[in-house]
Amino acid sequence: MGHIALAETPAAEPTDRARMDIHEELDQWLDTVLPEIFQDGHEPTLEEMSDLITRTRQKFMGEWLPILIRERYGHYLEQEYAPCPHCGKMHRKMMDSFKELRTMQGTGRIGRPWFYCGDCELGYAPLDEALEISRKKIQLDVQKRATQLSAEVTFQRSGDLFADLTGQRISDHCLHETFEAVGEQARIEEVIPSREEITARIEKATRSKWRPILVVASDGAHMPTRPRGPRKGKRGPGQWQEAKGFRIYLLGVDGIVHLASWHQIQNEEDFGRDLSLAASRIPQEQVRIALLGDGADWLWKHMMAGFPEGREILDYYHCAEHIHKVGKTQYGEGTLEALEWVEGAITRLFFAEVGQVIGGLRRMQPKNESAREEIRKLIGYLQHNRRKIHYRSDRKGGYPIGSGGIESAHKFISHTRLKRSGAWWIKENGNAMLRIRCALYNGTYPQVFDHYKKVHLTPKRIRELKNR
Ligand SMILES: [Zn+2]
Repeated sequence: MGHIALAETPAAEPTDRARMDIHEELDQWLDTVLPEIFQDGHEPTLEEMSDLITRTRQKFMGEWLPILIRERYGHYLEQEYAPCPHCGKMHRKMMDSFKELRTMQGTGRIGRPWFYCGDCELGYAPLDEALEISRKKIQLDVQKRATQLSAEVTFQRSGDLFADLTGQRISDHCLHETFEAVGEQARIEEVIPSREEITARIEKATRSKWRPILVVASDGAHMPTRPRGPRKGKRGPGQWQEAKGFRIYLLGVDGIVHLASWHQIQNEEDFGRDLSLAASRIPQEQVRIALLGDGADWLWKHMMAGFPEGREILDYYHCAEHIHKVGKTQYGEGTLEALEWVEGAITRLFFAEVGQVIGGLRRMQPKNESAREEIRKLIGYLQHNRRKIHYRSDRKGGYPIGSGGIESAHKFISHTRLKRSGAWWIKENGNAMLRIRCALYNGTYPQVFDHYKKVHLTPKRIRELKNR
């Protein structure tokens, strides 16, 4: 580890001193708690007693950790010389520097030797490196849980919930800042499960000699965004931007087995790059692949590039919506004629008789200008997508025809947290929120947090020096 100037070897066993110090803390705690429980004329309920303990334990248990650190890491506290973590040059201790540590156990304080390398302009404390102490006041265990909570509910709500469940309060500002820091380091490399993990999930879902069907569904959804404005004063107007996303899942014997979701407000090229990364993690020869989407060209181009063997299926529900629109404009909403025409057209499409539907549309006498326009649009849509319309044989082969799967993912990932009334997101923050929520949904949040931890624990100055 490079700490060559240690005064002593590490303590291998707890000494009586640590035990006594902790007993002392416990006694102080009991001095607070017992009089309240045994006061005259009041018989506290179980809930009242438990709440009292939750409320008071932070003050005392927070001090346990400094005691344990002093005992286990005493050799770091007595260190007189330590090498610079960047250039390796030895420096003499400058001072003892104090640090407040907020963990899930509460708040404690430690003093540890502080060193400075003039050549690198870098301050360092070897103890912080050994213990993975965060430069923030709240430590990594708190950061990890607080970020997860903020991904589920508003920052204000997460502060309240956290306080209620743990007995300690984190400010909105601190929650925001932590979330942004973790979100900034959340990358698709960690958000999408590894190839090993995906392969394991596929193997678990394969129960016969048939390869299971893997569905890749893509679509776009509009997100309320706003430009990054000045802290005070009027912000620019909000706008709706498209979050492009995909969901990859298996049709398992017992239902859908989720593999990966990814959504970002981004352009088409970035979407393509991200989808191809996900595609590279799928053992494609072990599955039969169904590609599902609406008529948008950008999405088909990239799905075909990532999954060249995929069976293209035009999302049935999107397709039916277009058919209904013509029925309504041409024959009137809810009329018998409209219903009959729609049913006939859909049945033909089921049997892949796209040409006949197009022929019928061409022979139609448009009722008015808007009907003429809708008919023209539908003809174009069907011509453009005819290769992807074969619902009956999809059904026979066990393939899905509609992407209910991605719509439910969208609702869960984006809408429940991002589309709250009156919430307009700065694009970068909205994307950070989407990445963290995808990670939670994909089961990869621990990996995402580990990556953040690695970056976060490297002092900013060292990152600057390395980038030179
Ligand atoms: Zn140095």
